[in-house]
Amino acid sequence: MNFADGKETAPAVGLEIGNACTQCGSRRLRRDLVKSAFWHDDSLVVVEEIPAVVCEDCGERFFDDATATILDLMHGDGFPPAQACGHLHVPVFSFSARVPTDLTAVAEGQG
Ligand SMILES: [Zn+2]
Repeated sequence: MNFADGKETAPAVGLEIGNACTQCGSRRLRRDLVKSAFWHDDSLVVVEEIPAVVCEDCGERFFDDATATILDLMHGDGFPPAQACGHLHVPVFSFSARVPTDLTAVAEGQG
């Protein structure tokens, strides 16, 4: 499964409240329902209301085994459009159209 942020699978599994975030070490974790975007073939799909443990400090989200399994099943189903609960229209941008001809100036500008 490809998360839209490029990760192949859920960031981590089995992290519970009381553990430390595996990304930043924070213990400020909360349970929440999150949405996540996935690439399915050439289509981007969004799944809402996914139960997750969320790090208050770095924002990393952790899914448990059962949640990851259900997401895998949904992926296996192919996200049939008839089962979608809504649709989003998202803008698409070209990175190359934004890249200035003089990249050196950009690098110096950030120095
Ligand atoms: Zn964290």
